[in-house]
Amino acid sequence: MEKIRLGKTEMMVTKLGFGSIPIQRVSEDEAIAVINRCLELGINFLDTANGYTTSEERIGKAINGQHEGLILATKSLDRTHAGIKSHLKLSLERLGVDFIDLYQFHNVSDTETLKKVLAPDGLLTVAEEAKREGLVKHIGITSHQIDVAKEAVKSDRFETIMFPLNFLTYEGTDELLSLARQHDVGFIAMKPLAGGMIDDATVAIKYLLQFPNVVLIPGIERVPEIEEIAQIVEGPWEITAAEKRKMEQIKQELGTRFCRRCDYCQPCQAGIPISDVMSFSNLVKRLPPVRLYTGKFAAAFEKAIDCTECGECEERCPYNLPIRDMMKEHIRRHEAGRKEYEAQLASR
Ligand code: SF4
Ligand code: SF4
Repeated sequence: MEKIRLGKTEMMVTKLGFGSIPIQRVSEDEAIAVINRCLELGINFLDTANGYTTSEERIGKAINGQHEGLILATKSLDRTHAGIKSHLKLSLERLGVDFIDLYQFHNVSDTETLKKVLAPDGLLTVAEEAKREGLVKHIGITSHQIDVAKEAVKSDRFETIMFPLNFLTYEGTDELLSLARQHDVGFIAMKPLAGGMIDDATVAIKYLLQFPNVVLIPGIERVPEIEEIAQIVEGPWEITAAEKRKMEQIKQELGTRFCRRCDYCQPCQAGIPISDVMSFSNLVKRLPPVRLYTGKFAAAFEKAIDCTECGECEERCPYNLPIRDMMKEHIRRHEAGRKEYEAQLASR
């Protein structure tokens, strides 16, 4: 698989990396099978985070101490010196390695937090000290906010930037990509499939392959998904006229008001799996009714009516989605769909 130089880190990273948010949603055996398949396919870049619950531990179990040839990236959302230190220690333990190749400040999406990271005795000093001690090889940052991401790149204090990039959310990103090139900051594209909202992997991945020095890290839940994407990466990269039309069609259908399933809105004080509820309009196109109206999704919607409207989730959503209003809309649609499904069952 083709490798690219990840900016000033000088690390040679496969163009296709592995995003590990979705392996939290499957069983441990399934998660390990997905990671092993990625390694068999030649992927050498695995990205995880302290905040992705079981993800680091599952990667640790899959690689079983075999760090050689692999580039492991993780991150911390903590905003205190002691918290980052303790997250780093935990990441090393969970991954079962002596050092992290790329340690990232996770979701720095407002100016105040960036200032806190960059201040003379700021949070960055913790990662820099870890780098001197050999616990961390390189330092990066992740953001969902374009102006903050640009400032981070211009600061010349980070070796990589991770930012959402896909044909739905491209606006403004060309300037960030060009700044990253000028400052030799490695660019890692998160959300290549817009958090699962783009269900045509071919057009989504081919679109990103046109950016020469960008690593893409689709979040992968199941083996066939990574096999399909790896095949697209290995295949012809030119985008056909029909694929261009498909992209336009998807853009028009989705607009900008959709959930990327990043789960940054969590924790919800009422225990609501917000992204499951918020993804209903997309899932309804892909899943059979039995999956939507029984089991996990039915339980998510039952839970959703416990929403206290506290609004905390909306403060945390990097896409400023009106979660409470959108959930109400989805609850209504789910309820209507469920009734229809039950009526169909009863008439058989
Ligand atoms: S507004 Fe509702 S969904 Fe959001 S955090 Fe509060 S209880 Fe949870
Ligand atoms: S509601 Fe916002 S924060 Fe929550 S999963 Fe969706 S996009 Fe992410």
